Amino acid sequence: MNNIAEVVISNATRQFDRIYHYRIPEKYLGRVNTGMRVIVPFGKSNRLLEGYIVALTGESDFKDLKEISEIVDESPVFNENLIKLAHWMKYRYISTYSDVFKCLLPPGTGLISSKVVRLVNCDTSLKGNYIKILQKLKDNEGVMEYDQLKEETNIKSITKYLNKLAELNCISISEEFGTKVKRKQIKAAYLTKPSEEVQEDIESNRLRNIKHVRILEMLLENEYISVSDLTKFAGVSKGVLETLNKYGYIDFKNMEVTRDPYESQNFQKTSPLEPTEEQKHIIDSVKEMLDKKIFKEILLHGVTGSGKTEVYLQLIEHCINIGKQAIVLVPEISLTPQMVERFKGRFGEYVAILHSRLSLGERYDQWRLIKDGKIKVVIGARSAVFAPFDNLGMIIIDEEHENSYKSEITPKYHAVEVARERCRIENAVLMYGSATPSVENYYRAKNGEISMFTMMKRANNLMLPEVRVVDMRRELEAGNRSIFSRILHSEMEENIKNNEQTIIFLNRRGHSSFVLCRNCGYVLKCPKCDVSMTYHSFDERLICHYCGYTVKNVSTCPKCKSSHIKGFGTGTQKIENEIKKHFEGSSVIRMDMDTTSYKNSHEEILRSFREDNINILVGTQMIAKGHDFPNVTLVGVLAADSMLNTGDYRATERTFQLLTQVAGRAGRGVIPGRVIIQAYNVENYSIECACAQDYKSFFEKEILVRKKLVYPPFTNIGSIVLSGINDRTVYNRAVSVKKFIDECFSGVCDGDAILGPFRSVISKIKNKYRWRINIKCKEIGKLIDILTKVSDHFYAHHGKNDISISVDINPVNML
Ligand code: ADP
Ligand code: ZN
Ligand code: ZN
Repeated sequence: MNNIAEVVISNATRQFDRIYHYRIPEKYLGRVNTGMRVIVPFGKSNRLLEGYIVALTGESDFKDLKEISEIVDESPVFNENLIKLAHWMKYRYISTYSDVFKCLLPPGTGLISSKVVRLVNCDTSLKGNYIKILQKLKDNEGVMEYDQLKEETNIKSITKYLNKLAELNCISISEEFGTKVKRKQIKAAYLTKPSEEVQEDIESNRLRNIKHVRILEMLLENEYISVSDLTKFAGVSKGVLETLNKYGYIDFKNMEVTRDPYESQNFQKTSPLEPTEEQKHIIDSVKEMLDKKIFKEILLHGVTGSGKTEVYLQLIEHCINIGKQAIVLVPEISLTPQMVERFKGRFGEYVAILHSRLSLGERYDQWRLIKDGKIKVVIGARSAVFAPFDNLGMIIIDEEHENSYKSEITPKYHAVEVARERCRIENAVLMYGSATPSVENYYRAKNGEISMFTMMKRANNLMLPEVRVVDMRRELEAGNRSIFSRILHSEMEENIKNNEQTIIFLNRRGHSSFVLCRNCGYVLKCPKCDVSMTYHSFDERLICHYCGYTVKNVSTCPKCKSSHIKGFGTGTQKIENEIKKHFEGSSVIRMDMDTTSYKNSHEEILRSFREDNINILVGTQMIAKGHDFPNVTLVGVLAADSMLNTGDYRATERTFQLLTQVAGRAGRGVIPGRVIIQAYNVENYSIECACAQDYKSFFEKEILVRKKLVYPPFTNIGSIVLSGINDRTVYNRAVSVKKFIDECFSGVCDGDAILGPFRSVISKIKNKYRWRINIKCKEIGKLIDILTKVSDHFYAHHGKNDISISVDINPVNML
């Protein structure tokens, strides 16, 4: 009989990240199942901790098993397939069970809050840690996130000091729940005793009621939690909270949260459009694959506006008809009201939209609706790949080439890879859609590894825009030192006169980090790697961050000897100012990281641009995606080649993708569009091919370069970053890690190599120095194996050290 549960502990550190056996007590037999959360006694002190049951078994090699204390869920929160996926993720991303399982639960369940501390009154008579905290806040304009404050002041049990400071009315502490635009009041609970005291009461078993313990543990980790979230996540009634309040452990206060923005919206019901020839062929073929219920990968290569979304909608409909469910992943930035409307309009109540503006409780509600089978289609960003469907038919990944599918926090999963594994496990169909597929996937399609369909005509018969390239070296020769070429300048004037709108696009990713000759277009590159050298103002050096090659910064161009060579980059703010200067009386709006710090404001900016008929929108890559602006007839791209010089092997690919996308912004309405691309390095094939909207030529050229220089898809790049306060110690540790790799990296394929250690592009983050080692390795299994060994070795030997390690495979950036 299966009376033993295999349990992993949530929140376990790497050291305790394994499967533990617990006996299922008599009273729970038959009720306990795989995929449930339980409370178990752990360690010598038998501290009660949350755990996840990953399997049941009848026997164990261990004697004297402890018993499960309590069941959290009445039904499993993870199905068997998701548990399989979790095992794979732990392996593939060299991660812990704890981190991986957290991905599978709605974000609220981990109860991570963003607590904000504000300076109210800087009482200078205070001493020690108190004044240290106040000073730190003052240095940061009076407001900081709790976590940041804790890290930067390095004060142990900082909560104690903060509570005291709050009592003295020197600071205020609050919980930020999403946006500042729309808010509604909720009731939240918080601890009224010092956390040490609460902790002590829990450890010493003074508190015997598990419900009390769980609530207090949640509140130990989060200063404020809404009463409704608490009752939901802890599975208790409000009465239990009242009791804790009576005992003097907690109190309540009113706070603000965001509502679901779709709650009150009505969506016009739509029906399938009569598919075009191209669409019909794809829909029929994929329907057949869906019916077979086998794992299948399909690349849908279709230009913007070719009707991909309509294909998705009709395939999803088929999925629903055969009793299956579908997930659609889109980049968060494309989750626009128009996008939501199309899916809600077609499938109504069956659709759940998962996005970062939902509150904890709302996300949890969505998640539960999905689990309960009320939802058939989930649309969302990266994490929607974990939607708890029991009968998944298909996953669609729109804009498959997007970076944002890769998580940059642990576990550093790539939603595309996770989707592939999930579909493999669940015998589902995986469809990638893109106008500019990733080189990796297109390569697989060309090799016949995955199926491919193409749609090269625009569904609504709109014309592709007319694209022109301006060589900025010629402008300089002609004495034009402005950031606008003469032609762009006059076209912008024309647009203002005709009351048509203009978008000016600038990529800031390569901001000032590379060195370019304004006279001949020459960019300093690493002789060994063919990536641009990165300028470090820190020590006035140019460094290649693939191999570590370095030279002193130059003052004249090595090619033409001109002194017009310098770090390149122009900010959007500067451009906004230039426009105001050059085009008097025109209206300008700017969209970049600085203007979109509040989550809703990017929608707000775009709405204003569209509805208030602002003349010119200036922005970074954010404006390149998925928005329809019928009145935009001119798009200008400044320093198009700056994207080429980000020092990443994907730089050319990204340039091509972005330019193609930006060009697609023009002429979405009835008036044909014009696109003007300004660059120094106009001969680069990414620019030429983007102008011609010619993906195939681009791919043919790019794949040759990848092959020659041995970059993905011909290899994998493993990245190890070590960071710590002391530069020298971090470097020394990196050297010893390198040595360790040298020892276990045997049986090398052609082109495999270990590079480094060398300084990271961003050599210091938050006062921590960073050193990097790159491993090129053709066989991914071998690379995973090495990185796992490196991690295990590191934690076993230097676990409690002040140096941290981060490993990743094919990272989206190498900063
Ligand atoms: P994509 O997702 O490839 O950018 P969309 O699916 O958004 O393309 O289609 C672009 C436009 O063409 C939309 O306005 C859509 O309603 C329209 N469209 C798509 N398919 C058809 C069709 N079969 N008949 C008529 N219009 C269509
Ligand atoms: Zn190099
Ligand atoms: Zn030059």
